[in-house]
Amino acid sequence: MGILDKNRHLEEADKKYVWHPFTQMQEWEAETPIIITEGQDCFIKDIYGRWYLDGVSSLWVNIFGHRKKEIDDAIRDQLGKIAHSTMLGLSNAPAIELAEKLIRTVQKPDEALSPHPPFVKVRPEGGDSTRFTPHASLTKVFYSDNGSTAVEVALKMAFQYWKHRGFTGKNSFLSLNNAYHGDTLGAVSVGGVDIFHNAFGPLLFKTFKAPSPYWYRCELGEDCTTCGIACAKKMEDTLRHHHEEIAAVIIEPLVQAAGGMIIAPQGYLREVRRLCSKYNILLIADEVATGFGRTGKMFACEHEDVAPDIMCLSKGITGGYMPLAVTLATEEIYTAFLGEFRELKTFFHGHSYTGNPLACAAALACLDIFEKEETLKKLLPKTDILEEKLKNISGLAHVGDVRNKGFMAGIEMVKNKETREPYAWEDKMGWKVARHARNNGVFIRPLGNVIVLMPPLSISNENLVRMLVVVKDAIISATS
Ligand SMILES: *Cc1c(COP(=O)(O)O)cnc(C)c1O
Repeated sequence: MGILDKNRHLEEADKKYVWHPFTQMQEWEAETPIIITEGQDCFIKDIYGRWYLDGVSSLWVNIFGHRKKEIDDAIRDQLGKIAHSTMLGLSNAPAIELAEKLIRTVQKPDEALSPHPPFVKVRPEGGDSTRFTPHASLTKVFYSDNGSTAVEVALKMAFQYWKHRGFTGKNSFLSLNNAYHGDTLGAVSVGGVDIFHNAFGPLLFKTFKAPSPYWYRCELGEDCTTCGIACAKKMEDTLRHHHEEIAAVIIEPLVQAAGGMIIAPQGYLREVRRLCSKYNILLIADEVATGFGRTGKMFACEHEDVAPDIMCLSKGITGGYMPLAVTLATEEIYTAFLGEFRELKTFFHGHSYTGNPLACAAALACLDIFEKEETLKKLLPKTDILEEKLKNISGLAHVGDVRNKGFMAGIEMVKNKETREPYAWEDKMGWKVARHARNNGVFIRPLGNVIVLMPPLSISNENLVRMLVVVKDAIISATS
């Protein structure tokens, strides 16, 4: 087969055999798919040799670019030893070393990796101190292989923790509107993005909901400069009445990512931590999207000196090389599961690829790169460039809001800038912009009317500027 025949075959076979995620396949089949064969730095190449700047880091995972030598080498070295061995009844060196390094990193992010101050443990305030959850830093690592399973683990862990402590009524969770925690049924139950989640309503367990801290479209009709975080007060109303039923609050710290890059007002996360401590509820921080430098610090919780009881990490953990996730827990939670076997306190959960050595080796290499290349320090001036160019885009006629936290950015398109009237979702405005950008060599994937920009943390200033020029032009083309 000649190269052109081979390309044609791939295109046809894709349509014939592959069912793509989050994709209306009828539309997909009507078009020619872009098939990627190679990557280098922040670029990806298709079968015809066309290069695209990867503006969303292969869906938020690829933080150091493609073909990063240190990660390539780490996986190759590990491949020379063993590719996989189970964690059920055995252990393996990369999984142990990574667990140790991750715990050192969350406990002392400054010393291990970044120039920022260490976690300050938030002390519970007010109320009867005997009712508080004892608060300590994260000390244990539970492995799984994607963000959704990391969340499933967190939910089951929180639920069972209270059972072991004799609290039989804590059978529910509180989550936020516009939250996204993954696609498995437990994760969907704590989700709040109607367009993804409504279809599965009858299958989901019931949860308590709190408003999304979304200043541009506040559910409570408040102005975020004067409201004193009214959405957190609303959460407190629910916690006050239902804390005996709630095992945990689950939250995407600082940025509700898949919900549309919604950035919480300063102080919101800290207030949620305070409320959880006050009402004897665990705090699950789902840092699957925000973790590993995305927000400018290693973990988003650091921005407000918040220590969660459980933390979920995935996406950036292996630099976008291998599927891997972890759920971190405090010593307090871990010890509640200890006992004689017959007491049935064991955490009955585990996956075939738990603690995969190749993935753990890749993740160890990534943590080394953060240290050696001072990734977070170098991100600061790049974030300044991003913010400056975003400001420039915010003046466009159909741009309602631009927002970013570090290297997570969203541009919200609106039909009417004065009234903030959104484009109807069927208009697919985000997709139109993405199409224009793709035709000019930049790959992005929108969330409804929100243009998402999540380039690799390692992107050069020059490529960052180039991406933003293309995106600005694409917005102008799509809306004129
Ligand atoms: C992507 C994401 C998940 C789900 O991760 P998968 O690896 O896609 O299952 C969970 N939580 C958050 C915050 C995410 O952004």
